[in-house]
Amino acid sequence: MPQRIYLDNAATSWPKPEPVYQAVDQYQRQVGAAAGRGVYGSAGDAQRIVSRCRRLVAGQLGVADPTRVVFTGGCTEALNLAIFGLILPGDHVVTTDAEHNAVLRPLAALRRDADVEVEYAPVDTFGRVDPAAIATLIRPNTRLVAVTAASNVTGAVNDVPAIGAACREAGAALLVDAAQSLGHAPVDVAAAGVGLLAAPGHKGLLGPLGVGMLYIAPELGNSLKPLHLGGTGSMSESEQVPDELPGRYEAGNLNVPAIAGLAAAMEAAAEADFANGAHAAAERLRSRLAELPAVTLHTPPSDAAPVVSLSVEGYDPHDVAGVLASAGIECRSGLHCAARIHGSLGPAAGGGTLRLSPGYSTTADEVDAAVETLAQLAAFC
Ligand code: PLP
Repeated sequence: MPQRIYLDNAATSWPKPEPVYQAVDQYQRQVGAAAGRGVYGSAGDAQRIVSRCRRLVAGQLGVADPTRVVFTGGCTEALNLAIFGLILPGDHVVTTDAEHNAVLRPLAALRRDADVEVEYAPVDTFGRVDPAAIATLIRPNTRLVAVTAASNVTGAVNDVPAIGAACREAGAALLVDAAQSLGHAPVDVAAAGVGLLAAPGHKGLLGPLGVGMLYIAPELGNSLKPLHLGGTGSMSESEQVPDELPGRYEAGNLNVPAIAGLAAAMEAAAEADFANGAHAAAERLRSRLAELPAVTLHTPPSDAAPVVSLSVEGYDPHDVAGVLASAGIECRSGLHCAARIHGSLGPAAGGGTLRLSPGYSTTADEVDAAVETLAQLAAFC
């Protein structure tokens, strides 16, 4: 087998912990039924898998009532549900220059089609937003503030509790994009003043692709407009989706194989310090790369998700990724679906960056192999 060093865990985690593969296989071979749809035994088993996973996600967020957690097909769908579900024509929204297209594009569509005004708080050279800058942009008609917990480009972490306090004071709802933070850093949504939190199951939580989640705070009740209408396995006589969560926002069959894998991933994470493994590998990468004069790091020296973003003087990031790929090192280059942030990262990041994102099982030898390949390239600068 040729060498394969996977450093693209910010896109999706790989490999998964062994119990994830076993849980998906076991569901597919032995359960196989839809959840919430039948009274026979395997349908009950499927429903129990979903309920167990919902409880685990709620526990991860510090939420006592698991029904406030809604499963979606991914983080993008969760963000779309939050944004299109909450914002009304004529509203004002505050967001930041560090957001992913999963936030920027729904907001741009509302700006174009629904007379919604969107303002973008600037970020610093690592992509962090100042909570005071958010506070000054909030107006009486600001319905939503949408902020990423950690940048998918630089890993920089935002001060969500301070932003939550500003939102609370002004009466605006806070939507947190936790795509790059959940599983890597603890969160207590109530203490942080979070109204809505969207996350994928397949990144830091180490579950399979195909499931995400939206937390909806109790004070928002069931006020969000559902994104999908359809069967929920309940109240079939009615042409309306039910009022109650989570069913109100979960029309159509859930992806039970992915949910089974996600539950197993969270149980495995409770037994092992996966987050620490990814952070240790990222720290080794960052500190070793800081020694290379031709490399500019865009990741802050501390308080970052396990993402290391960089530029190599004189090289296009896609070309650098190509050199790494030919050595079996898999990483991402370019704008990372977050174009606005690059204007703040300095001239070296103008055409995008190279992003290395280790995972819980990345070894020191794998980190060193990536650093040495980059050092050889940098030596020609
Ligand atoms: N938000 C951020 C910050 C991301 O990094 C990503 C994915 O890379 C998303 C949202 C979208 O996640 P998904 O592809 O799981 O829908």
